[in-house]
Formats: sequence, structure tokens, C-alpha cells
Amino acid sequence: MSALLTVEEHRARVLAAVSPLPVETVRLAEAAGRTLAAPVLAAHDLPGFDNSSMDGFAVRFADVEGADAENPATLRVVADLPAGSSADPSIGAGEAVRIMTGAPVPTAADAIVPFEDTAGGLADSLGTVEVRRAPAASGAFIRRRGGDTRAGDVVLSAGERLGPYALAAAAAAGVAELEVRRRPRVAVVSTGSELVAPGFVPGRGQTPDSNSTLLAALVSDADADMTVMSSLQDEASAIHALLEHAADVDVIVFSGGVSAGAYEPVRQALESRISFEKVAMQPGKPQAFGALDDGRLVFGLPGNPVSVAVSFEVFVRPALLALQGRGVIDRRIARLTASETWTTPPGRRQYLPAAIDLSEGTVRPATAGGSGSHLAASLARAEAFAIVPAEVSTVSVGDPLDVMLIP
Ligand code: AMP
Ligand code: MG
Repeated sequence: MSALLTVEEHRARVLAAVSPLPVETVRLAEAAGRTLAAPVLAAHDLPGFDNSSMDGFAVRFADVEGADAENPATLRVVADLPAGSSADPSIGAGEAVRIMTGAPVPTAADAIVPFEDTAGGLADSLGTVEVRRAPAASGAFIRRRGGDTRAGDVVLSAGERLGPYALAAAAAAGVAELEVRRRPRVAVVSTGSELVAPGFVPGRGQTPDSNSTLLAALVSDADADMTVMSSLQDEASAIHALLEHAADVDVIVFSGGVSAGAYEPVRQALESRISFEKVAMQPGKPQAFGALDDGRLVFGLPGNPVSVAVSFEVFVRPALLALQGRGVIDRRIARLTASETWTTPPGRRQYLPAAIDLSEGTVRPATAGGSGSHLAASLARAEAFAIVPAEVSTVSVGDPLDVMLIP
């Protein structure tokens, strides 16, 4: 019996074959989901000037200090500052300027009185304002220039994914073009003479091809582009034809046809070009991986749908993210407590589709029927994968476990 590789050994071989894809410059609108290849530095201070955090009146603090309902301070309103105004009106003793949120605070003012703290509210436009409650201190309700970030500060780092918040941070910091990695191009290829397209009624001996749909969605979730999708008969010639057709991809992901049966087209076609391993995990023991001479990375995943999901999470997704230069290539891990008992295969690390309760901090199998790797429909119940170490054979209620969180 050939020795099993550990998950870490196989993963290390995969990641050793990955180098980040080329850098390109894209505008903000095209940057969603991309990975930064260089840090984003603020182009200017943010905020760019001291401005008001309230609708109200800009005042000299000394003029309103101690004012309350019994002893209001009455000021003459000498100007009006809507957001977007660049004016800097002067304010003499006993004077105020009406100001809206975001408008620049006049140089002569050192506090804002919100209109709620005046007798007439915003109606006191030009005339007088009666301040019935003084702000707590000089500087009240003023957002300071550079309080968020300063020109030249690092706003985002290389390796970060550009999600909605990161994109907005770049925009706020005055950066409209970003250096990112090219998105990986991926071919998703199902093998199996038993497969029929989704929607066709399978005859005896046939089963719907769910792996193509699963892998397409997982590839897109990993911020990569699926540029080829194919479902092949169990013939080595079909694999050779596919390899010629998918000349322009970075990664080819096969499902099925890698194990020890009589009809294993991926193995038959590629045995001399990539390596076929047994990995100490369940599901997902047979794994094929290698780089072709032209640089394309090839994954051969076992065909059972749960095996495909687990193999993708553990080996393919990290590789797709590493191709993008992503700093964090692993899913988040939560430490949760088992709320049910189950047994696991000896000597192999288990990745069990699991349901989780994050408020209780618990994890349990997603399906009552056990961990069968063929349970394609039950996979939809999975919210996470419970990771059970190879040396554990029974998980008992109350045991702590690492749990891989999936979206
Ligand atoms: P294999 O790894 O090719 O031996 O396939 C293992 C099991 O997974 C078999 O029961 C296959 O029918 C099933 N299977 C393989 N490919 C797919 C697919 N694309 N969609 C659904 N089930 C599949
Ligand atoms: Mg097969």
C-alpha cells in the first residue's frame, strides 16, 4: 500500500506550483473582487478640511460658553454655509454662521451649536440665533482635517481583496485606478459517461451532472473566471481534445475519473504528466495535481459531489487565491463545540459537512444520514466543514473542533 500524503503535504505541493498572475491597472468600477498588487496610498487628507458634523451654527466658543435655557446667548447670524461651499466668512464677537453638515468650518469658529440646541432651529438663517445649550467644549462637532487618513498614508495593503468597503476606502482617499492581479481563467470539466445535463430525467445508470454547476459557482466565488465548461464521456481521447481546446486557461479542474476503477479517463490520459496521490482525508482521498509543460495547472478531483466541494475548499480555492496574490488564502476557522456524537474514519482527517449555531458556539453534522460523499442534495444543508483530526475516531458531545466557515 502506498503511503498517504497528509493534507498539508499535498497542499504544499500545490501552492509551490503557483506564482501570482500578471499585474494590470483597472478603474474602480472594474475592480470589485480583484486583489491589490500594490498598496493604496491616500492622495490627500481625509477629511480635506475641518468640517461640521451637524446642521447648526458655527460659533466662537467663548461667546456661548455657559449658555442654557435660563441664560441663552444671542448671536447675529452673518453668513450661511451649505455643504460644498468654499467660503470662509469672518466671525466677529457675538456673531455666528449657519452651517450644514460637511461644510467647511470657518477659520474664525471653534465650535458648532447643533440647531436642536437653539430656540429657532434652522429657521434662524439670517437674523439672530438664540443658543439655549452651549456645546461641551471648544472643538465640539468639528471633524478635523486628516482625522480619517493623511495624504500618503497606507489605506489598503497589497494582497487585500477589493470588497465594497475596500473599494469605498480607495474612492474616499482619492484613488480612482488600482493595480491588481489578472483574474485566473479556469476550465471546469466533469467526466463520467453516466452524467446527464441538469433538467434531463436520468435513465437507469445515469445521474445529473451537479459538479459542473458546483465548480462553476465555487470558481466564481473565488473571484476567478470560468472560461471553459465541459462534461465529457469516460474516454481518454476526450480528455486530450479538451486539453487542446482549453489552451488559454490558467487552471483546469477535472471532476471524476482519477481513482482506481477500470474507466478513469483523467488518470489514463494524464498519468505521465501530473501526479496521482492518495491524501489522508475523508472525503477526497484520491487527488491528482500537476503543472503541464505550458504552465497550466491541472487538478483532478474525485467525482463524488461532497469530495469535490471539500477538495476545492482545501486545495483549489487556496491555489486560485494565491494566483491572485491574495494575502489570506484560507477560509476562516471557528472553534466550536460538538452538539452531537459521530464516528470518523481512522487515520484520515475528516471534513464533515456541518450545521453550525454561532450564538451557541456549536457544530453538528449537516445530515442525519451520516457523511456519505455522494449526498449531492444534502450538501445544500452544509454551512461549514467540521475538521476532525486524523487520530480522532469518535467525536463526542462537548468536544471542541476547528470548523471551516463557508459563505
Ligand atoms: P468517479 O470519481 O468518477 O469514480 O465518480 C465517483 C462518483 O461520483 C460516481 O458515483 C459518479 O457518478 C459521481 N459523479 C462523478 N461526476 C459527477 C458529476 N459531475 N456530478 C454528479 N456526480 C458525479
Ligand atoms: Mg467516473
